[in-house]
Amino acid sequence: MPKYAATALFTAVFTAVVVSAFWIWFYSIVPEPRAEVVRSGTIVAVKPEKSPPVEVAQQVVVTPAGLAIPVVGVKATDLVDTYDAARGSGRRHDAIDIMAAEGTPVIAAADGTIEKLFFSNGGGGITIYERSTDPKWMYYYAHLSAYAPGLAEGQQVKRGQVIARVGHTGDASPSAPHLHFAINAMAQGERWWQGTAINPYPVLAGK
Ligand SMILES: [Zn+2]
Repeated sequence: MPKYAATALFTAVFTAVVVSAFWIWFYSIVPEPRAEVVRSGTIVAVKPEKSPPVEVAQQVVVTPAGLAIPVVGVKATDLVDTYDAARGSGRRHDAIDIMAAEGTPVIAAADGTIEKLFFSNGGGGITIYERSTDPKWMYYYAHLSAYAPGLAEGQQVKRGQVIARVGHTGDASPSAPHLHFAINAMAQGERWWQGTAINPYPVLAGK
């Protein structure tokens, strides 16, 4: 092999290695793009173009009632019945709190339609109201840190689909991020803020 060819080959290989190493290093220090939550008034919107596509969770625990436990990685035996726990000014909790690390994926408990994306400053924070397909039930997810990229009102979701991330928005403590999850029985014609609460605990825990 002529000397110039060997030099050219060496230069090509050397350059390729250096450039690859640079990009490997570059992607290791630059964080993944996160869903951007924009708040204007009480409406929360997500910019889908800045976000990765909606994902489906791998570890979905489906309960005997046919609902998925709505936080990835949580088992039925991890659940605690906090339905009757008192909340300020004589209010009842009417939901269960599922403790999980900030950012843990929140998944749809059942097939349904995203009926309302609502921001409640002093209460649930970033919330989702999902109506069951039949449409007799409303599933309520609160204290979220972010919606799943592209999530929108009117969108149909499947049981186990990632719809949000656990957080502590609203009146939840930053030191105890959790999903506040409620199930409301909906009479015909009732709107997203109406309905009658049932205890999600026995449904999710299979008791
Ligand atoms: Zn709660």
